Amino acid sequence: MAQITGGCLCGRVRYTLSGEPALSAICHCRNCQRYTGSAFEAVVAFPSAAVNVQGELKTYEDKGDSGKAVYRRFCPNCGSGIVAEAEALPGLTLILAGGFDDPAQFTPAVEVFCSSAQPWVHAGGERKQFPRMPG
Ligand SMILES: [Zn+2]
Ligand SMILES: [Zn+2]
Repeated sequence: MAQITGGCLCGRVRYTLSGEPALSAICHCRNCQRYTGSAFEAVVAFPSAAVNVQGELKTYEDKGDSGKAVYRRFCPNCGSGIVAEAEALPGLTLILAGGFDDPAQFTPAVEVFCSSAQPWVHAGGERKQFPRMPG
């Protein structure tokens, strides 16, 4: 995959991702729904060394399903979610794919936490679906 660029709504935070994503997913968990103010979070994971963020981020310390910390980092000016690091996924940085400059560079491979998917979201059969987090 080519280099991916993206950023927040106001433009103060920009990022570059290089190499191949370790995973790409749609997360239907309640925390992602609340955090994004939307039905789900579109997210890719890259090795942390491949993620280069410019600009100031603020961090909200959330808890994942496992009880381990999830650090959700967002632009303090416009509130856009940018990246997250989960203790359960060491060495990886999660990037919110909604901020990609070219949204076509995101292709979700799996859907997780489908047990809390919003009732009007019709998960098609084209992706692997898990009721919670696999593994
Ligand atoms: Zn911003
Ligand atoms: Zn989630």
